Amino acid sequence: MVFKCKNCGGNVVYEPSRGHMYCPHCESLDSEDAVQGGSLTQCAVCGAPLAVRQYASSGRCEHCGSYLVFNERVEGEYEPCWILPFCLNKDSAVEAMEREFGRRLFTPTDFMSTKSLEKMEGRYVPFWLYDYQAHYDFAGEGTVVRSWTSGDTEYVETSYYEVIRQMDVDFDRIPADASYELADGVMDLMEPYDYGALTDYAPKYMSGFYGEIYNQDARELEERAKAKAREASEELLRGSLQGYTGMRTLDRKLEMHADGVHYALMPVWQYLYRYRGKTYAFHINGQTGKVVGTTPVSRGKVLAYGASVFVIVAAICRLALNFLEIL
Ligand SMILES: [Zn+2]
Ligand SMILES: [Zn+2]
Repeated sequence: MVFKCKNCGGNVVYEPSRGHMYCPHCESLDSEDAVQGGSLTQCAVCGAPLAVRQYASSGRCEHCGSYLVFNERVEGEYEPCWILPFCLNKDSAVEAMEREFGRRLFTPTDFMSTKSLEKMEGRYVPFWLYDYQAHYDFAGEGTVVRSWTSGDTEYVETSYYEVIRQMDVDFDRIPADASYELADGVMDLMEPYDYGALTDYAPKYMSGFYGEIYNQDARELEERAKAKAREASEELLRGSLQGYTGMRTLDRKLEMHADGVHYALMPVWQYLYRYRGKTYAFHINGQTGKVVGTTPVSRGKVLAYGASVFVIVAAICRLALNFLEIL
């Protein structure tokens, strides 16, 4: 499938800054016609042979430059439920990255000037989004120790509390990326996405970008999402047990029930740079502009500053929470 302009016949793409389909040839908005044809091996526009990547669902013809969507990779079992359209266009993504370079003290001063761009692409990364219902039963013995001095005597008072927690937690859309090519760690750092902007899938959003089908099915990746839900549940429990001097666990049980899973596509800008014979990859969240990647470290600069600090911020999923506390 290819999106052609009704007015000039040119290739129409989705333009993030406008939030509309856009014809770069005659500057028309929403002038697209979805034209069927072509295949994974042949361009729908010029008929040239295509060499598509193993999991590609959309891409660009190297011969005529048209952006193509491959029907058999976006239909049936491969039809996404949702897509998060790009909010950042290429220029905004470049700006976000250069701001990030500027902040990195240890980037060699010649990195920006001698860097050479290998590749810059907007990609839709396949994700599974899992819903879980968790139920946590906890029983423990909490102690609160109080001490004071009166005259020559020091008093220590220990109070014992029976502590019971029953938590019901609904987890919505816990993400796990289903792409072999992009490291799990990178995609986890891309979070958070604002899933409120997810929209029903339509192929037009892919015109202008490189899409990928899921490389692993929902069952294979379930454990990763479950682990995130478990971890968040533990954190909520810990948070609810503040205020005691000590806590002895008597009983704890965490039950998790799967509550649905959806296939979705998330936007990522990917940049590859060559610098002194080595390739550096940068990924930019196509919705929020968050940049993930490492720049080369200049030895001289590290010595000058002594240490470098990296702070990683992880996001927690959206939660609904009920407590029952009996002291
Ligand atoms: Zn046009
Ligand atoms: Zn072509």
